Amino acid sequence: MTSFASAPGNTVRRLRGQCLCGSVHYAVDDAFVYALNCHCSLCRRSTGSAFKPFAGIERDKLDITLGHEHLHRFGDPLANHDVHCARCGSLLFSVVRDGGWAHVTLGTLADAPSIRPSAHIFVGSKAPWFEITDNLPQFDELP
Ligand SMILES: [Zn+2]
Ligand SMILES: [Zn+2]
Repeated sequence: MTSFASAPGNTVRRLRGQCLCGSVHYAVDDAFVYALNCHCSLCRRSTGSAFKPFAGIERDKLDITLGHEHLHRFGDPLANHDVHCARCGSLLFSVVRDGGWAHVTLGTLADAPSIRPSAHIFVGSKAPWFEITDNLPQFDELP
């Protein structure tokens, strides 16, 4: 199921996402500006995975639609921080770039975004046990 922004004439598709336990739901415009696979140690630890596929969008294009009371913010709430579900721990998105942008963890999306990750970043600190087998560009840090 898809839903549409309410502004007249605005046909930006909205994507739904949620945490593991379902306590927190969010909606985000299908208008991501970039998508990347980050291999840095912070992303690996926060997700428990080899890397974190994420997509960036202006923070005001993402809304928590259920479970505000279950949000847990890790980091500086007034600056950069990660937003988790306090009940199940899922990392839903990170607020970055002076609070103006959200890096949405693609794994928490229920609907498929139009964008696809275009590169691997921070490959210089990737897990030694993980081999990148696709042909996307690789950068030791940020491009
Ligand atoms: Zn949860
Ligand atoms: Zn990272």
